[in-house]
Amino acid sequence: MAARPAPYLDDLNPAQREAVEALEGPVLMLAGAGTGKTKALTSRIVHLLNTGKAQPNEILAVTFTNKAAREMKNRVGRMLGHAAEGMPWLGTFHAICVKLLRRHAELVGLKSNFTILDTDDQIRLLKQLIAANNIDEKRWPARMIAGIIDGWKNRAWTPEQVPASEASAYNNRGTEIYDQYQRRLRDLNATDFGDLLLHMVTIFQKHEDVLAQYQRWFRYIMVDEYQDTNVAQYLWLRLLAGGHRNICCVGDDDQSIYGWRGAEVGNILRFEKDFPGAKVVRLEQNYRSTPHILAAASGVIRGNEGRLGKELWTDAEEGEKVRLIGHWDGDEEARWVGEEVEALQRGTRGIRPLSLDAMAILVRASHQMRAFEDRFLTIGLPYRVIGGPRFYERLEIRDAMAYFRVVTSPEDDLAFERIVNTPKRGLGDKAQQNIQVTARQHGVSLLEGARILLAEGGISGKGAGQLRALVEGIDRWHAVARWHGVAPAEDADAVIEEGPTPPKGLVSHVELAQVILDESGYTEMWQNDKTPEAPGRLENLKELVKALESFENLQGFLEHVSLIMDNETENSEEKVSIMTLHAAKGLEFPAVFLPGWEDGLFPSQRSMDESGLKGLEEERRLAYVGITRAEEVCTISFAGNRRVFGQWQSALPSRFIDELPEEHVEVLTPPGLYGGGYGAAGMQSQLHDKASRADVYNSPGWKRMQERQTHRPMAQPQEVRNQVIDASAISAYTVGERVFHQKFGYGCITAIEGDKLDIAFEKAGPKKVVAKFIMSADD
Ligand code: ATP
Ligand code: MG
Repeated sequence: MAARPAPYLDDLNPAQREAVEALEGPVLMLAGAGTGKTKALTSRIVHLLNTGKAQPNEILAVTFTNKAAREMKNRVGRMLGHAAEGMPWLGTFHAICVKLLRRHAELVGLKSNFTILDTDDQIRLLKQLIAANNIDEKRWPARMIAGIIDGWKNRAWTPEQVPASEASAYNNRGTEIYDQYQRRLRDLNATDFGDLLLHMVTIFQKHEDVLAQYQRWFRYIMVDEYQDTNVAQYLWLRLLAGGHRNICCVGDDDQSIYGWRGAEVGNILRFEKDFPGAKVVRLEQNYRSTPHILAAASGVIRGNEGRLGKELWTDAEEGEKVRLIGHWDGDEEARWVGEEVEALQRGTRGIRPLSLDAMAILVRASHQMRAFEDRFLTIGLPYRVIGGPRFYERLEIRDAMAYFRVVTSPEDDLAFERIVNTPKRGLGDKAQQNIQVTARQHGVSLLEGARILLAEGGISGKGAGQLRALVEGIDRWHAVARWHGVAPAEDADAVIEEGPTPPKGLVSHVELAQVILDESGYTEMWQNDKTPEAPGRLENLKELVKALESFENLQGFLEHVSLIMDNETENSEEKVSIMTLHAAKGLEFPAVFLPGWEDGLFPSQRSMDESGLKGLEEERRLAYVGITRAEEVCTISFAGNRRVFGQWQSALPSRFIDELPEEHVEVLTPPGLYGGGYGAAGMQSQLHDKASRADVYNSPGWKRMQERQTHRPMAQPQEVRNQVIDASAISAYTVGERVFHQKFGYGCITAIEGDKLDIAFEKAGPKKVVAKFIMSADD
């Protein structure tokens, strides 16, 4: 095939071009933020297609988020500039693995319509196993076990493969439960997240023919953000690339921020060993940020040891310095950011007006989001939350999804359990137990169990009629859903054999969703609910049904939801983005706000308390990721007080602030505001040098703060960090929450009694402690 002209190559610098044109053999692009790694990777896909080296479906490209995959798809589409015949396999590890696993599910004892459990289901299942094994849940909280199992799955260990030393660290209890958990998942025809990769690795390892098929199929493999792959992902890639070795990985060791989830930065450092003769390309020109922003980021990351060390340069215009400001508390910070966003939008900040889409607020911990959401709602500033506590995690959405799950996969017992008596159908514990027992006796799903129980007359009264209505409803909805093509291939044939008559009441899958919610009585339940949240919940349900429109059927939608990391319900309105630093990886925005730079929040308390520097260095890389998202405007802020889970905490400015090179920072915080002596030396000298006291004392902000100070005593810096100022808000903790204690380390709350908490500590065992001595570990 004759090569078409390649304008996309003209946009690249020589080093990028080298990486793009080296199509055969292993290539590693190891370079700092904003140097055009992702751009080069995208161009490489286009180049493969343009030169006719590969057909779209022979290319496999792995991105870290679904958002990144979407962007790459768009970019490839644009660059090709003509209707591409088919698209490459482009998605996250999970999204790609779920597709593959559906084809080979039977090899690991699953059916192709398996469901993917979320964390809630996972915990519910583990709780059942813990109870069935007579294990003390106080010592072995389900969440802790879930964490251990996830960790093992990230390392690609099946229950049999967990090394003895690991297993004995948990008295072999962990491996026992892990084994039972996996069996139970199989019975339920379900997987959890970790399984998607683990199963595929297992299949590739055990079935050479399947592996060989995919090695032939995916002739060119590309991986973005390679520094954040975990062992399971790494093995999966190595197996797939094993034959042809046409693999191109790009990454940045300074941006490895998922160590806590099992990512191994070592994977990127080992690349040349795994793939001898690999071409290593380094990029040094940054095209994203102004020199001040780049210098600030470089200054911070320099504090890490054991880096490969990369110098970045840019020929962008100097622009403004990174701005730094301190606030009295988190609300004040949110208010100020809101004002800044509006000023940037209006163009009254001395730089060109920016659209809301051009701005992002990147937080360290998702609990920081609320203050911004509240403030933006108050002032009517449109915003979107990416990641974080999500739409799809809300109660009503999860109930509705459970209905959809039962309808698409009637053997999904966890979903059935969730909805069988929601809304109330007069089925008490006894009746529900009967269903369980019947199902177990007959070795069938709960739905079938219920059917048998009804036929045998084993259930009476009002409950019987309502349960029958539910079972019949599910049958009816399932028939329609099957018609939409949710059922596995062999079932689809069955439908056709039955004749082309569509099921009674055939409607589109969007209408079906509405029908399910209405006929089941779920909508009515919230209509009759008098609590203040009910109207919001009904709104959310509407939103959910609307979201279905862009999918082919219910199963496609369910799959999407279990995989998404960002919950944008897109419309064209311009919005400020709010997201965690973790979710911001790979993205860029003209203006970035980095709030909450306080010791204990960022870096997190956990990383500061750890012995060794590992945790702290990961936090520093996160700071580097944050700053390097900014193109023109970067604003860092901190607050002296913050309400976290109902408790006032005072904090010192982040130690990372001291690491910002002075000459690239403009300090907006006035001196004296915090009673002097606040912050470390470097910061202080800047405060004194750079701000004019007179201006400060006349500012409305100062007056406001003074007023507040008379109402609420300010914690002195020498007081214990994270001290509880308002001790009445202890109920902020919930059973099951992971917390941290200075002396006993991490643990999980098992009971709450006044201000005393029972905590199962991971190392120290169960203890009763006073609430004010612990802090939430949820960051
Ligand atoms: P990160 O490490 O943050 O993921 P990256 O290395 O993947 O960054 P890209 O997102 O690919 O960087 O590129 C950063 C910005 O620079 C993008 O806006 C991109 O379009 C632009 N860019 C990349 N290469 C060039 C180039 N050769 N000429 C002009 N602009 C470029
Ligand atoms: Mg990138």
